[in-house]
Amino acid sequence: MSSLSAMIWDPATAAPVSFERPVVVVGGGPVGMTAAAALAVEGLPVVLVELSPEPRPDWRASTFHAATLELLQTIDITDRMHAEGLVVPKYQFRDRQDGLVAEFDFRLLADETPFPYRLQLNQQHLVRMLAERLRGDERVRLRFGTRLTGLDITADGARLHLFGPEGETELLASYVIGADGPRSAVRGAMGVDFEGFTYPERFAITSTSVDLQELLPDLGHVNYVADPQEWLFILRTPESWRVVWPVPERLSTEEASDPARLESQLQRVAPYDAGYPVIDHQLYNVHQRVASAFRIGPVLLAGDAAHINSPLGGVGLNSGIHDAMDAARRLGRIGRAGSGGSVDIDAELSAYDHVRRTVAVEYVQADTQRNTDRLRETDDTVRRQNQDDMRAIAADPQRARAYIRRVSLLESVQRFGIGTPPAELELEEAR
Ligand SMILES: Cc1cc2nc3c(=O)[nH]c(=O)nc-3n(C[C@H](O)[C@H](O)[C@H](O)COP(=O)(O)OP(=O)(O)OC[C@H]3O[C@@H](n4cnc5c(N)ncnc54)[C@H](O)[C@@H]3O)c2cc1C
Repeated sequence: MSSLSAMIWDPATAAPVSFERPVVVVGGGPVGMTAAAALAVEGLPVVLVELSPEPRPDWRASTFHAATLELLQTIDITDRMHAEGLVVPKYQFRDRQDGLVAEFDFRLLADETPFPYRLQLNQQHLVRMLAERLRGDERVRLRFGTRLTGLDITADGARLHLFGPEGETELLASYVIGADGPRSAVRGAMGVDFEGFTYPERFAITSTSVDLQELLPDLGHVNYVADPQEWLFILRTPESWRVVWPVPERLSTEEASDPARLESQLQRVAPYDAGYPVIDHQLYNVHQRVASAFRIGPVLLAGDAAHINSPLGGVGLNSGIHDAMDAARRLGRIGRAGSGGSVDIDAELSAYDHVRRTVAVEYVQADTQRNTDRLRETDDTVRRQNQDDMRAIAADPQRARAYIRRVSLLESVQRFGIGTPPAELELEEAR
């Protein structure tokens, strides 16, 4: 990996965006694909570099919130998502011993958003839809099967070192968006730290085709279930019911994934005589980490490359998509202005760093950590207090509205906008 020398780049000498110097997106996951589509909508030439030979089919995130659907509408993908996704207007906060504690209804926001619900859709479907959409776009070049191996900042942009079907190649970029996931090579080349911690327990995600609502009739489609020994997160996606539980540190991967254990875990969620078919099972380490900077020179970080968090709340991928759209709008303004244009390049890129890092820390990290702590709380007094708090919020329409506005990331978008020009941001912050 080449080292990146941030000080060489000078916004005054930045190369204009052109087919010779495109914007390069590293990583073709949901965030990189969204960034590429949004940059193309802004009229910019884009090269997307993805190490996998095809769009990745992994089962991972599955929730899209209102603010994210509004953004994805601008790249014309929400109709396809709705055709395959599941609209879920309500979600429940439950306790494993006491049952339903509180229910929240996103339809309280019907006067604020055209999408007052969570859309459940497994992320590999969004990746597939975006890849299909990008393949037909003449402004976008897709380089699958190609790995970023190094990156240098130059006086007028960046030079990327790649390894792919043509062997080792170099690519010059005007700007780079690093959307290459939690182990980001771009972040490594930037010399940026990934500060935070890893939860001691791993999370198991087990998907079954059995309809859990038939077995537990008062269950919602999205359920956060607190328990001092073994909390659960149960949600419905179009093709499955997914159950997430913590895996104690003492269990090996083989023990935690043993089919007999999965069966007994699911039977404890809801007894089912026929036995549970498991259609997908994954174990993964969960972290709360944020990059110490989201931008060095002409290079921006987005999505999991910039921040990772507990899945409890379903906001990690959503905020990554917000990063992608914010970056694309800023680069769109810079690209359209051309060299010698009226845009203050440094102020635009600094605004990206400030806004997207603040959202990651103050909303995404804070809320997912609170959600996770609430579910795994072992002190009985605190657990009861948590229940009382959730009931009180749900019972008060004003507080419930504010709560779901926040958990669906509408609050952060209302505070900062997406891609808001630096001068307007300053006015907002001064208010
Ligand atoms: C098992 C699992 C379950 C999850 N469940 C949930 C959930 O329930 N809810 C939730 O909100 N989130 C969940 N997440 C997190 C969610 O999947 C991520 O937030 C999301 O994938 C982030 O998208 P991304 O595009 O930023 O990164 P990724 O999806 O990681 O995409 C990064 C892409 O970059 C490519 N890449 C990496 N290095 C290079 C390189 N050097 N050169 C070129 N390409 C490169 C990779 O191949 C990959 O395609 C889960 C994650 C995992 C691992």
